[in-house]
Formats: sequence, C-alpha cells, structure tokens
Amino acid sequence: MTGTPSSSEHVHIIGAGLAGSEAAWQVAQTGVPAILHEMRPARMTEAHRTDSLAELVCSNSFRSDDAANNAVGLLHEEMRRLGSLIMRAADANQVPAGGALAVDRDGFSAAVTKALHDHPLVEVRRGEIAGLPPADWRNVIVATGPLTSAALADAIRTLTGEDALAFFDAIAPIVHKDSIDMSVAWFQSRYDKPGPGGTGADYINCPMTKEQYDAFVDALLAGEKTDFKEWETNTPYFDGCLPIEVMAARGRETLRHGPMKPVGLTDPRNPTVKPHAIVQLRQDNKLGTLYNMVGFQTKLKYGPQQQIFRTIPGLEKAEFARLGGLHRNTFLNSPKLLDGQLRLKAATRLRFAGQMTGCEGYVESASIGLIAGLYAAAEARGLLLSSPPPTSALGALLGHITGGHIETIEPGETLEPGARSFQPMNINFGLFPPLAAPPSKKPDGTRLRGNEKTVAKKQAISARALSDLDRWIADNLRVAAAA
Ligand SMILES: Cc1cc2nc3c(=O)[nH]c(=O)nc-3n(C[C@H](O)[C@H](O)[C@H](O)COP(=O)(O)OP(=O)(O)OC[C@H]3O[C@@H](n4cnc5c(N)ncnc54)[C@H](O)[C@@H]3O)c2cc1C
Repeated sequence: MTGTPSSSEHVHIIGAGLAGSEAAWQVAQTGVPAILHEMRPARMTEAHRTDSLAELVCSNSFRSDDAANNAVGLLHEEMRRLGSLIMRAADANQVPAGGALAVDRDGFSAAVTKALHDHPLVEVRRGEIAGLPPADWRNVIVATGPLTSAALADAIRTLTGEDALAFFDAIAPIVHKDSIDMSVAWFQSRYDKPGPGGTGADYINCPMTKEQYDAFVDALLAGEKTDFKEWETNTPYFDGCLPIEVMAARGRETLRHGPMKPVGLTDPRNPTVKPHAIVQLRQDNKLGTLYNMVGFQTKLKYGPQQQIFRTIPGLEKAEFARLGGLHRNTFLNSPKLLDGQLRLKAATRLRFAGQMTGCEGYVESASIGLIAGLYAAAEARGLLLSSPPPTSALGALLGHITGGHIETIEPGETLEPGARSFQPMNINFGLFPPLAAPPSKKPDGTRLRGNEKTVAKKQAISARALSDLDRWIADNLRVAAAA
C-alpha cells in the first residue's frame, strides 16, 4: 500500500447479486461505509425470482470444493482466507453434493441478506439506477451482472463508445494446449503470414479427410442443441459469430469455405496431400497454455460438443477449459476499457465487478466483487491496494480480465475487424503462469507417469497460489487494517 489515509467516503455499489453483495461486505469490513443499491423487487430481471440479495438464478452449485486439485476449489479457499461473506454463507448452507459445494439456495441468500442488513456500515437501498450514477458519487462499483437493466446498459455503452453491450454470445470452446496431439496437428499461420506480432506459425492446425469432414458435418446437424429461452428471442446474434451448426445447416460445404477452409496450409508430415478441411486453434492467453477453436461458436449441448469435437484429428484427448455456448450476456470489453484496479479508463470513479467484467460463474463473479470491494475501500481511505499475485487464482482471473487476453481479430476471419474476441471465462488452471520447474518425480524418487504428472502439476500450482496469496495478505491487508 502507498499513500496517506484521507476522509472515509461512502462507496456506492450498484447491484446486490453475487459480486455486489461481496463487494459491500468487504468495503464495510474495512471500516468504510457502503450503500448497496438493488432494483429488485420493483424491477426484476428475466431470470431472478425473489427480492433476496445474492440470488442464485440457476444451479445451486459452487462446483468443486477441492482446493488442491481444482481451480474453482482453490478460488473458494482463497476467498475464505480473504473473509468472503459469499463463502461463509455457502459453507453454512451446504447440502450434500459429493466433492462439490452445493447450497440450499434460499438459506444461502437469506444468510447473505441478513449479514448485510445487520452490518452497521451497510445501507441497502432498493431502486433501479436507471442511467449513469449521480456525479457526486465519487467511488462506485457497478455489479449489475449479465442481465443489467437496459437504461444502465445504454448509459454505459454511450460512455464507453462500444457498439453494443448485450449480445447473444455464441462462444467457441477453449482447449488446454497440452491436451492437443501435436504428432497429428502442426503450427502454421495461413500462407505463413506473420500478421501483427505473429511469427507465421501462430495457429495449431488439425487436418481432416473428406470422410472425416462428412461425418463431422452429419454429427453437427444431428447433435442436440440448447433451446432458446423465450426472453432470449429479442437479442441479436453477436456480429460475425454464427454458431457452426447454423453454418453447417446452410450447406455441406459452408464450413469448408468458412472457418474450416484448408487453403494456405500444408501438413508438414504429408505435404503432397491437401487436407479436405482444417480446424484451426489460436492462442488465447499470453501464457500460451490455452487455445481457442477458431470460428467454432456453438449452441450444441455440452455432452455432444465434447463427443463431436474429439472426433477432430489431434483433439481426440482434448481437455476443454471452456465449452462453447450461447446466452444473453452483458459484459465489457474489459482488457480495453478497464485499468488494473477494475476502473473504467473513461470515468475512473466507476469500478466494475462480477460477470460484467468478463468472468463467468457465481464464484468467479463473487471473487471479482471481493477484490473490487477491497480496491474501492482502499481508495476511499486514500490508499492504493496492490493487485493480488498473478500466481493466485484471484490474480489469474484478474489477469484474464484486465491483461492476459490476446486480441485476435484479423481481417477475413470469421470474426470481422472491429468485433471483439474477449469472452467471459471460468477460472481454470490454464490461466495460471506455468511452474518454473514442473514436478517430475514422486516423493520416493520414482518418475511420475501419465495422469500422475497432471495431478502433481495442479497440486504444485495450488500450493504456490496459497502461499503467494498468504504473503500478499500479510503484506497488504494487515497493513491496511492497521492504517
Ligand atoms: C439465465 C442464467 C443462468 C445462469 N446459471 C448459472 C449457473 O448455473 N451457475 C453459475 O455459476 N453461473 C450461472 N450464471 C451466471 C450468473 O449470472 C453469474 O454467475 C452471477 O450471478 C453473476 O453475478 P453478478 O453479481 O455479476 O450478477 P447477478 O448475480 O446477476 O447480480 C446483479 C444484480 O444487479 C441487479 N441490477 C441489475 N441492473 C440494475 C440497476 N440498473 N440498478 C440496480 N440493480 C440492478 C440485479 O437485479 C441483480 O440483483 C447464469 C446466468 C444467467 C443469466
């Protein structure tokens, strides 16, 4: 921390969902007063059903609670160490779900609501913020979620100069690079073009014969798709992001002339035979651990998606960091619009949190609410809180939102210039910086084999995360508490 504490001013938090509730708690716990604005019940969203704070709109699961082997379990543990209200309420309202943390949804929301109502430094105000917040609110967290009300979304869109904020997002799957079979696939950019910042060998290419392509198109057409909800029918498709099965339905050759076109690429192991079609994957994070399937936006259900995409040569054992999907979503192009403290560069009094920033899921949204709350509280006291270590789950997720994503729009690709490639993502091990020395041996000195290596690597990343986070807490938050 640097700077001198000044007068404590209110932090206004808009939206009392997963992120906003956590943010308000964190602000108040540091001794700074918080006003939490929630539009329900006067104005409901298409998915919320109650007036409770932190309502879970769909599943009641916070996913795996295994902090040693699973990235979301690790994020749970980090949030507990940071005094998270969302995790406290979840732990207190747990229902049996194997290794997952699932909650009694009413008990969970009631616990969050009560804790915030009872906190002497939190005021809950009901009512929609139907436009930009008043100019005299100097320290604001916007946490209005994927279903942000239209009036506020329009005001933010005007302020940021973005074309649109709410889309039908047809998102493409993302694959862990180390699960791609590079004895089948190869690195090459189309026509070996280096492009801006590239090398000429930036894409991973997976070749298909005619028989494989025909079977693939048949599977896409037959695969089970997710249904549109009634309220989704009025939202347009995101520009240039047609799902592949929609393209396939337009004609058997459409994909071969679109995202799967085989031109400008030569299989180095079989240079005289032209593949009938090629699936390309493009680096998705600076670390180079994740690759996204170019043009493979889809609304196939998750099961068929994995089954069909694993028929692609080279992807037989693909592990997916994120599967494709299609849903309405309001979120910012955060790497471009937000600074490292989650503030809008165009209006730094506005800080963003939750799913709007480009994370995905209850836990991730709450975790970004947590750090936004700490940043805002520090600012209210005239301090600057340093960012959590990039090796922690919280830091890795922040990295995805504010810096780790690579802008990958190129003319002539499925996405047109001007469209954006940044998409919401769950926490996963692909977002963490690689280990300096990945474990290769067991404690008894024998070599790790196959899956043992993957398990040991995850455990080493998790152990590093918790130890680095503990140091950051000791260096920053204890000092802040004392200030
Ligand atoms: C239909 C649907 C299903 C989902 N299912 C899952 C799932 O099963 N599992 C999962 O992990 N994630 C799921 N998600 C994602 C989920 O929304 C987020 O994970 C999480 O709820 C986002 O947290 P948040 O705090 O950003 O937004 P929210 O939890 O949605 O909170 C935003 C709050 O802001 C309020 N608000 C909006 N506009 C205004 C305004 N102008 N003024 C005042 N208040 C306002 C809303 O009423 C709401 O209470 C789903 C999302 C949707 C849309």
